[in-house]
Amino acid sequence: MVDIHNKNEGLSLKAQLQIVKEAYPKVWQYILEAEKRGHDRAMTATLLQYDDDDEIIKEDDQMKVFLNPGHSPDGRPDSGACNYAMDLRECDIAKTITDLVAGYLTAAGVQVVGNVQSDDLVGDVVGAANASGADVFISIHCNSFANPNANGTETCVYPGSSVGVKLGGYIQRQIVEALDTTDRGIKYRDGLYVLRATDMPAVLVETAFISNGEDVAKLRDQADEFARAIARGVTDYVCSL
Ligand SMILES: [Zn+2]
Repeated sequence: MVDIHNKNEGLSLKAQLQIVKEAYPKVWQYILEAEKRGHDRAMTATLLQYDDDDEIIKEDDQMKVFLNPGHSPDGRPDSGACNYAMDLRECDIAKTITDLVAGYLTAAGVQVVGNVQSDDLVGDVVGAANASGADVFISIHCNSFANPNANGTETCVYPGSSVGVKLGGYIQRQIVEALDTTDRGIKYRDGLYVLRATDMPAVLVETAFISNGEDVAKLRDQADEFARAIARGVTDYVCSL
């Protein structure tokens, strides 16, 4: 079983697409038809698997992502961290950003198989994610600390998850570049249930600090930029496969 990247490793995506166009007419036709349905050409080509006889082996060309805005819907019973001075709650910011991420991923040809905010992490979140067939799991949060100077973006992964590090690294870099937040890097966390209990590679994105003046203004005013950055991180990961 091969896919476009394993077959032609080292070539640019454009060069690889040219090879497919010339040598694999049935595969090429499939890619064009997927494009008509709104799927990104590079994304389809990256995820499609086919053999040397131009036969498609794995027709499912979409990466599947399960999204989890942190904490409880409307803060009941768990709002996450709060910035009382600004009247902002982590649960609302996480929900806003995650819903936008879902839209951008769908537009990019990534299948969002779940977008669940719940305090029932065992059933509604991890249980549903494990039953969903998702390739990756992404939980979205804001950070908070007693010292208001603490700021920046970090992405938590389960220790030893190489895919988590890779996916998290792409998301981390996109957020830091787009929002100009401090790069706190990848953090290894073995105590976070959503990272530990999910079957698929999982990341928990701490977008920025709700407790820091500059960060919280970005969380309030630039949710769309956070969402676009997270979605680009996912598509960077897909294109790296
Ligand atoms: Zn949180």
